[in-house]
Amino acid sequence: EVSFFWFRRDLRLDDNVGLFQALQSKYPVIPVFIFDETILERLPNNDARVGFIHESLANINQKLSEFGSSLLVKKGKPLEVWTHLINEYSIQGVFWNKDYEPSAIQRDLSVDKLLTSNGIQSSAFKDQVIFEEAEIVKVDGLPYTVYTPFKNKWLEKYKSIAPVPEFDAVPYFSNFFKSDFDFPSLEQIGFTTSPIKVKPHNLKWVANYNETRDFPALDSTSYLSPHLRFGTVSIRKLVNWAAKKNAVFLSELIWREFFMQILYHFPKVQNKNFKSAYDGIEWRNDVDEFKRWCEGKTGYPMVDAGMRQLNETGYMHNRVRMVVASFLCKHLLIEWQWGEAYFAEKLLDYEMAANVGNWQWAAGTGCDAAPYFRVFNPDIQQKKFDEKGVYIRQWIKEFDLGYGQPIVDHVMARDRAIATYKAGILK
Ligand code: FAD
Repeated sequence: EVSFFWFRRDLRLDDNVGLFQALQSKYPVIPVFIFDETILERLPNNDARVGFIHESLANINQKLSEFGSSLLVKKGKPLEVWTHLINEYSIQGVFWNKDYEPSAIQRDLSVDKLLTSNGIQSSAFKDQVIFEEAEIVKVDGLPYTVYTPFKNKWLEKYKSIAPVPEFDAVPYFSNFFKSDFDFPSLEQIGFTTSPIKVKPHNLKWVANYNETRDFPALDSTSYLSPHLRFGTVSIRKLVNWAAKKNAVFLSELIWREFFMQILYHFPKVQNKNFKSAYDGIEWRNDVDEFKRWCEGKTGYPMVDAGMRQLNETGYMHNRVRMVVASFLCKHLLIEWQWGEAYFAEKLLDYEMAANVGNWQWAAGTGCDAAPYFRVFNPDIQQKKFDEKGVYIRQWIKEFDLGYGQPIVDHVMARDRAIATYKAGILK
């Protein structure tokens, strides 16, 4: 008789709520990870995120071996894998951490149904966020759709319980099921190594975060995003730490939860405008212009540097993400869903809630979004945030003063954007 802990986007042994709870159960715990074929099928076979997951699992497996245990790694459709596991083992309980993306919610519901129909209980825990679902809502019980009041309520609630408890499972590691499962290579899963790698996170700069975070050449943000995406760091530890170190940095972590709760309460935002009043905008959706944007060949240095950084490294600095996103939606009048999909393909830290939330923010179609008549001027953004062109030169090797022929004239494009939005919204 055994229990299972199902790893998904919480790839750590340290301060992991569901794992901690599983180890408290009466039965030896088999930790399992399932490479989900439905997700893998859509990815190129050298996708760097799969490599990062594999590497993170190898670290977990290594640690488990010190306790005479190992990780069970499967590949397939979760429902089919669970059907096999139910036949193979006498399962007393299955534990996991909640995932709030619409497709993950569906997946978990179907697995839960399967387990229940076999007399097995599943237990799901909050681990990915400090506050979930209806924990931060307005007085009338409705979700917040504006960031600042959400943040204030979040901070108030956090302060009333700070520091949030952390869950040290090390004393219970002897409760893992003793095993020596084969750990598959990346090739056995059908993938190969990518030249693109996730950087280690870096918290050295945090004291000056307020002053430096907007300057892409300074390289002074945390690089935490892929780690938060795949759960190789614990959000509780991070928030407890950030709350003591830097309020602006903490507020970025609250943005993360804000967009997560927006997607949770309004799942339509995954592909539809939050503000349906914007549904009438007539996008130009020019395929050739989109291609030039993707390749970093618009002739606007800040936009091109950002897109090339993304293509080469799977990362782009936040300030530059805002510039390229605004440029696509406003200057080129291409609908945000195209840009969102391109980012989803390329970003190592791709996460539906943050990506959709920020894209809709840039397009002006989202909750608490930038007003539609605010059109970033990419050259002014460059003067403000990369005055000496250090970032630009890093990504555009051929850069010189006469760089490129702009794909559109800024003034014309700005006027066209405002007019098109205005006409679309009024419809
Ligand atoms: P830091 O500045 O060190 O921030 C620390 C953490 O705070 C980040 O790791 C992230 O978890 C959170 N955070 C910071 N800014 C935001 C924000 N605006 N929204 C939500 N969370 C935030 N972030 C993603 O994690 N995944 C995405 O798919 C994603 N897509 C984006 C698309 C666009 C168009 C824009 C403008 C932003 C997007 N972001 C996304 C948010 C932000 O750009 C990244 O989180 C950040 O650049 C990651 O670098 P960092 O960890 O060094 O950030």
